[in-house]
Amino acid sequence: MAAASRPVSSTLAPHPPLTDSHGRVIHDLRVSITDRCNYKCVYCRTGEVGAQYPELAGEEYLRLIRLFVGLGITKVRLTGGEPLLRRGVVELVEELARMRTPAGDPLDLALTTNGHLLESLAGPLKAAGLNRVTVSMDAVDAAVFESITRVPGSFPVVLKGIRAARAAGLTPLKINCVLLRGFNDDQIEGFARFAREEDVVVRFIEFMPLEEGRLWTPEIVVTLKEIVERIGRSLPLVELPPREASETARRYTFADGVGEIGIIAPVSQAFCGACSRVRLTSDGKIRTCLFSQVEHDLYGRLRAGAGDEELRAYIVRTIQGKEARHHIGEPEFLKPSRSMVHIGG
Ligand code: SAM
Repeated sequence: MAAASRPVSSTLAPHPPLTDSHGRVIHDLRVSITDRCNYKCVYCRTGEVGAQYPELAGEEYLRLIRLFVGLGITKVRLTGGEPLLRRGVVELVEELARMRTPAGDPLDLALTTNGHLLESLAGPLKAAGLNRVTVSMDAVDAAVFESITRVPGSFPVVLKGIRAARAAGLTPLKINCVLLRGFNDDQIEGFARFAREEDVVVRFIEFMPLEEGRLWTPEIVVTLKEIVERIGRSLPLVELPPREASETARRYTFADGVGEIGIIAPVSQAFCGACSRVRLTSDGKIRTCLFSQVEHDLYGRLRAGAGDEELRAYIVRTIQGKEARHHIGEPEFLKPSRSMVHIGG
């Protein structure tokens, strides 16, 4: 049997919680299973380059994820690129759903998608054991949406995908919207209504300097404060208490208690101190921060024949070195070598 597909030994010693040198417990793994994407969102991709990095075999992702789970990861989110483009995604979810944490619990399994292929895949993904999906959607107006994705006819397709996911029980269904001043900030109020009408949680995300081109400026970021003020003018908001320390979104309901929105503010109100995440790129590199300047070649070690103990020790060491925080907006800030679509958002 090839080294890559060797089953993981069940004799690995139990490990204390995976912690970094800043005392943060890491329990959340994001895995990109392709950096291909069928959308060309204007704020993410230039449209001039396609996939840039290789993909691993499904079994290889599973072997690496199993090692992380053995070390204390309890939540796995599949992402990309567009993860639903990846052949075998349903089977991958099926295998992940069989994994157990050292405490014997199933994983919390989620997936982030642009929703374009979700209508037909929502049912099979739910049946395979997926718990939740997050759909990225940057406008509620079809024309604005399609001018962002640069795919004609995409809005009704995604809407059908969202409704199929809700019907399949992939809930609570979250819709993530990246706001850019002058592009789609006129959609804020429409999204607040959409959250209530479609029974979804809409989360606005501040735009980060992770695009392929050079679009980011502090001025283009629509901040948490501004979003709350603008929605509050027509639909007063009430802030909800956080459910856990590492929660990235500030949550709000409306004054009548119907519906929920969230705001993720990595730029204006960074939450690095409570970060519990680590990422695995489609080509098997560990990234300890979205803004890491270095990547850690876990897959390279697997290919070279490293055993599970050695790979585990490498993961533990790498996570120890997780960055204290990002430096967005500071003079010494350096954009990472990969953009969001190639890291795995
Ligand atoms: N294709 C999937 C999707 O559309 O959700 C997964 C990959 S996509 C890169 C993941 C998320 O990253 C999307 O919600 C997208 O809007 C967000 N994103 C991309 N570039 C971003 C940026 N510069 N700042 C903040 N979010 C960004």
